[in-house]
Amino acid sequence: MSSNNIVIIIGGGISGKLAARVLSDYYKEVIILERDQETIGPLSRKGAPQGEHLHALLHAGEHGLEELFPGITEDFYHSGAVKINSTIDLAWYHHGAWKIRYDGGYSTTLQTRPHLEWHIEQYIKKIPNIEVYYNQAVQGFLYNEEQNQVMGVQLKDKTINADLVVDASGVSSLTSSWINKRGIEIPEEIMDINLSYISKQYLLSAHEERDWKIKMVYPNPPLEKMGGTISKVEGNRYIVTIMGYHHSINESEVLKNDNGFLELARKLPKLDIHQEIEKGIPLTKTSIYRIPKIIWRRFDKSKYSPNGLLLIGDTVCRIDPVFGQGMSIAILQALALQKLLRKQKGELHNVPISFHKEAAKIISPIWNMVITEDFRYPATNGKKPFGLSVQQWYAKNIFLLSSQNQDVYNAFVKVMNLVTPITSLMKPSIIIEVLKFAFSNSRKS
Ligand SMILES: Cc1cc2nc3c(=O)[nH]c(=O)nc-3n(C[C@H](O)[C@H](O)[C@H](O)COP(=O)(O)OP(=O)(O)OC[C@H]3O[C@@H](n4cnc5c(N)ncnc54)[C@H](O)[C@@H]3O)c2cc1C
Repeated sequence: MSSNNIVIIIGGGISGKLAARVLSDYYKEVIILERDQETIGPLSRKGAPQGEHLHALLHAGEHGLEELFPGITEDFYHSGAVKINSTIDLAWYHHGAWKIRYDGGYSTTLQTRPHLEWHIEQYIKKIPNIEVYYNQAVQGFLYNEEQNQVMGVQLKDKTINADLVVDASGVSSLTSSWINKRGIEIPEEIMDINLSYISKQYLLSAHEERDWKIKMVYPNPPLEKMGGTISKVEGNRYIVTIMGYHHSINESEVLKNDNGFLELARKLPKLDIHQEIEKGIPLTKTSIYRIPKIIWRRFDKSKYSPNGLLLIGDTVCRIDPVFGQGMSIAILQALALQKLLRKQKGELHNVPISFHKEAAKIISPIWNMVITEDFRYPATNGKKPFGLSVQQWYAKNIFLLSSQNQDVYNAFVKVMNLVTPITSLMKPSIIIEVLKFAFSNSRKS
């Protein structure tokens, strides 16, 4: 442990807890300030309303979480999370074709987001130099202009000084507006996707034979805008999430009566989810979450960077959740922070600047992958990347080939789970398969 004293973390969500875990090895006192009240058990909460919707944890996230909290994956299973074979137990309809089902030797854990977060919290509680204070909304920063140093935070009725402040308060973070008020613009990448998430949990008949544990029916853009997923989770329940881009879901219609959600499921590209839930028993109310835009705040590119302020997780980037990457990005960022702290051997002065650059390296390929898909909808606004149509053509062929070529699907699964870089889909053997496939399709049409 170094001679550093106090770090304050704004927000006790997933990023806040992960940052606390990593920083507790380097600071004497780690204080998490969370505006929500403490939840007793794995329950959804006001400050993280997205927790009522399906949350998939990708392989990279799962491995990273295990590295930070050894034993956590087994703990998930002990309290009912569902271990599946990632490529046998997932039935995935994507761009108009079902993926191959085969044993790739990978596993995935199915659980609700509150269940996952609650387990992380149990590990955090065991770390002696971390304190979590609930019902504490941070209202601003203490700042020394001359030294350009964030000195602590402002709460409703008190201030707390700190050597480092970590903003993990999510997409509605106060940092950007605080910096903007100082006359400085943080470069941002923003895209309008006008996405709605609508979810409900069900009990399904135990008598039916099911050859899947999670079934995903994704849209074939640009004509289809709606997709849905049904996933088994802890407690023998199923969470059903339906999402629609660009205002394709009439939310008030869905909420009008008890049948609204069922009727919505009938509009999906395949009827599989509807057929399951029409015989099921609803366990929860229908929850709605809107994601009008995705945003990447480029603190890594900003000319102005106050000392003593580090930003992590959704505070930096709120990505399109349809691809299930947000929590894994937060976990990869926590690991990057840990690596940086180890390298600097406790010399923490330049950590925020270096960390923001490392975080950008994690986000950049994922952001590019996601926007390539989001731009399939003409209504998506934003800066289009160079070579977009070629990328979209190549990706579409990979998606379709994944329904008949195991090697290609296997390579795609690893990329999708953030285990290998996207460039691994460009190796000669895969390029040849893509070209052969595209050529034979063009001859058929
Ligand atoms: C609908 C939806 C579905 C998603 N599905 C997936 C998925 O399948 N897989 C996946 O990996 N990711 C998914 N994500 C993304 C994932 O939810 C986020 O990436 C992740 O929660 C980011 O965590 P965070 O801690 O950075 O932010 P948050 O989860 O937003 O946590 C921020 C915390 O800060 C607190 N807070 C805010 N302001 C203050 C303040 N002023 N003072 C004190 N506390 C404050 C909040 O109460 C909250 O606890 C999804 C997101 C959405 C919206």
